[in-house]
Amino acid sequence: MDKQQEFALRTVEERDVRFIRLWFADVLGTLKSVAIAPAELESAFDEGIGFDGSAIEGMTRVSEDDMIVKPDPSTFLLLPTQGNSQGTARMFCDILTPEGQPSLADPRHVLKNTLAKAKEKGFTFYVHPEIEFYLFEQQDDWSRPPVPIDEGGYFDHVPRSSAMDFRRASVNMLEQMGISVEYSHHEGGPGQNEIDLRYADALTTADNIMTFRTVLKEISLERGVYASFMPKPLADQPGSGMHTHLSLFEGDGNAFYEAGQEFNMSLIARQFAAGILHHAAEICAVTNQYVNSYKRLWGGNEAPSYICWGHNNRSALLRIPQYKPGKGNSARMEFRALDPVANPYLAYSVLLAAGLDGIEKQLTLEEPTSDDVWELTDAERQAMGIRPLPSSLDDALKVMEKSDFVAEVLGEHVFEYFLRNKHREWEEYRRQVTPYELQQYLPRL
Ligand code: GLN
Ligand code: MG
Ligand code: MG
Ligand code: MG
Repeated sequence: MDKQQEFALRTVEERDVRFIRLWFADVLGTLKSVAIAPAELESAFDEGIGFDGSAIEGMTRVSEDDMIVKPDPSTFLLLPTQGNSQGTARMFCDILTPEGQPSLADPRHVLKNTLAKAKEKGFTFYVHPEIEFYLFEQQDDWSRPPVPIDEGGYFDHVPRSSAMDFRRASVNMLEQMGISVEYSHHEGGPGQNEIDLRYADALTTADNIMTFRTVLKEISLERGVYASFMPKPLADQPGSGMHTHLSLFEGDGNAFYEAGQEFNMSLIARQFAAGILHHAAEICAVTNQYVNSYKRLWGGNEAPSYICWGHNNRSALLRIPQYKPGKGNSARMEFRALDPVANPYLAYSVLLAAGLDGIEKQLTLEEPTSDDVWELTDAERQAMGIRPLPSSLDDALKVMEKSDFVAEVLGEHVFEYFLRNKHREWEEYRRQVTPYELQQYLPRL
């Protein structure tokens, strides 16, 4: 029994924890949970807990449906208790086959693998997500457009507003769980908010994002509102993204920083950025996985549509602030396409792998774009070598399915499952006759 396991067992006893929730993610990034009694914890550490993999998206073929979840004691934390409810703890799990091998369908394993590859090269990968979401009034009829809970805008201080209370409750709850929050504010759309998590290594952050999404949903239901991470819930308002700041460390030093270079950017930073831009189209189905994700990417309002980078250009896919002298450790780049409903394990895997590939292949970073790329004509963009991001899920899947790179990062199992699931989603969507078509065509055709 290792120290972390002992700590978890002791805490469960001392704090009178009654339920231990074992959490893991399916291929789409949906949180799965099984609660065990304290008496089962020791054997869960030793042998894991069996479950039916065939019932979970992307897990197994039916013939090999027995799978095992084994809690990772380093992720043990107490969930804040409300009122007189009983103590509850949670741990993220690794998914294993009946033979005790890591399951190839486990997104957390995919990320661990990619992080191990970075480690071999001497790098640790840190990320800092800015998570946007809307607060809507609760509704029963999901076909109606949602109603935002306020009319606020960017950085608005809305006195005595339920949005402010909501943010305060969420930040308190996250902090109690040991998830540090750096900023929170009202975002551009009515009812839209943003909460930024403090930077941490990518595995911890991916776990934290999973926790964040479920905590916010719970708090919103308690308060009689509805928190939604849907990328583009309102056609004429900004979508919700999850901009993520990326940095690579070598030991204690930020590998993106080199004093004296242009903008104090190291060669590694330039190659990493070039790798991300090079692979941006083929990883897009992973960073933006739903039909609706593309309504955000192509809906303006500061969401990126074109593959380019800039220093202070909010129309760019990748924003690399000029690295400030003497502030080397804060050197980072902001990837702006990602949305908050991505599977964070898979999304951070493909982003890291794309950057590492840029380093390995020594790709050249082209000139930054200072123009607003939406204002340019197609011809101007073409002349500048600026390609568009995929314009729909279908487009994104067509690029992804030809990508040996993505297949290798995700592994064949996740790659194939993901494509099959997403093709199904697209087929279902394109058969719809939408309210738009009825309104436009029925009166005249
Ligand atoms: N909501 C915008 C997006 O979809 C971002 C706005 C911002 O944070 N500046 O990416
Ligand atoms: Mg922000
Ligand atoms: Mg924002
Ligand atoms: Mg941002």
